[in-house]
Amino acid sequence: MSLHRLLYCSRAIPNLSYQDLKDILEKSEKNNSLVGITGMLCYGNSMFLQVLEGSRQNLTQTYNRIARDARHMDAELIDFSEAESRQFQIWSMKVVELGTYAPEKMQAIYLKYASEPTFSPQTMNPRQCLNFLLEVNALYNADLSA
Ligand code: FAD
Repeated sequence: MSLHRLLYCSRAIPNLSYQDLKDILEKSEKNNSLVGITGMLCYGNSMFLQVLEGSRQNLTQTYNRIARDARHMDAELIDFSEAESRQFQIWSMKVVELGTYAPEKMQAIYLKYASEPTFSPQTMNPRQCLNFLLEVNALYNADLSA
């Protein structure tokens, strides 16, 4: 089954807690590593932007489960296409809270690709979303190896 990459955005429920984010991360790490899915989840301005990489079948099943989750709504598929290689291979899932981790650097990366000053992935095209996530990933990896 060929390698695919899936991108979507969604809106968090109004009372989403830090514990909810921790639960999502723990469950995602466990489930994704079992089926060879890697990726990253960004959260800010009550919006999620997630990238998932893996086989088309596993991505479809995982996305269908995610889209039914009551902790978010208005899930919007941004892109689902074949990928030459994994770009997020370190993480079975990494959650990045945009307001807390390196906020100034994050804002600069975000503004490079976005028309809105606050995190609004629903207004970004697939290429902008992917490039934004790749730069956030690179920032994390650079900090990890520092
Ligand atoms: P269980 O954990 O046993 O859950 C059973 C059901 O209860 C599911 O329908 C689940 O959605 C729901 N549920 C569980 N906990 C809560 C809760 N605290 N509040 C409301 N409903 C709840 N899962 C992945 O496997 N990989 C991912 O990359 C991934 N990313 C996610 C990103 C976002 C933004 C969100 C909101 C969820 C994500 N999830 C991810 C979680 C996913 O939606 C499912 O909850 C999870 O995959 C179900 O795992 P499970 O089959 O072991 O069922």
